Amino acid sequence: MLNAVFHTSVAHLRDLPEDSLAEVAFAGRSNAGKSSAINTICNHNRLAFVSKLPGRTQLLNFFTVAPDRFLVDLPGYGYARAPKSQQQAWQELIGGYLAVRRQLAGLVVIMDIRHPLTDLDGMLLDWFKPLGRPVHVLLSKSDKLPRGQQTETLRRVRKMLSDQGIEASAQLFSSLKKEGVEEAEGLIRRWLDLAKKNPAQGE
Ligand code: GDP
Repeated sequence: MLNAVFHTSVAHLRDLPEDSLAEVAFAGRSNAGKSSAINTICNHNRLAFVSKLPGRTQLLNFFTVAPDRFLVDLPGYGYARAPKSQQQAWQELIGGYLAVRRQLAGLVVIMDIRHPLTDLDGMLLDWFKPLGRPVHVLLSKSDKLPRGQQTETLRRVRKMLSDQGIEASAQLFSSLKKEGVEEAEGLIRRWLDLAKKNPAQGE
């Protein structure tokens, strides 16, 4: 398990942590299961609920997983009732972060397995593509579908991604059933250049 603690919330790009070595960002539509996924990967019940506190939903929320290495919870997108001005502020903050952040090692995109690759997911992936950073898709809430449909959806999503020229890996994930946790954690550790286990710390 990754051991994470809340570090800071950032509203402006100028306030990004200075002494960061590597970061993995999490993006997804509101309600896709992003907070649950972060909590599950970090084996922590309430960690990413920081990001749901009033006033924090539109911020970049940083969690430390090792010295100077962070998970970054990006604001959920596609909240239909959000006013245009707020949607624009969201785009500027997230877009700015993803575009300028040198330390960004990879992007995890969470999609509800029942509604994968929505228009907004596609826009994000298209826009992110030229930046040349790795992308990994978590098909969340996989427990909501029978096994056969899970694997069929995974196959279909992989094909759609490659048809669109998007080089992203994808996997099934369930916070409820704790499925796909090791696979996701392993990838995040590799991206952050963290060893799998640290016997000295008894992890
Ligand atoms: P976020 O808005 O993307 O951060 O989504 P949340 O993590 O808050 O989850 C949205 C809703 O989906 C909540 O009601 C969660 O309980 C539910 N949910 C999240 N992950 C799972 C999962 O793996 N399985 C099931 N069945 N429900 C989930």
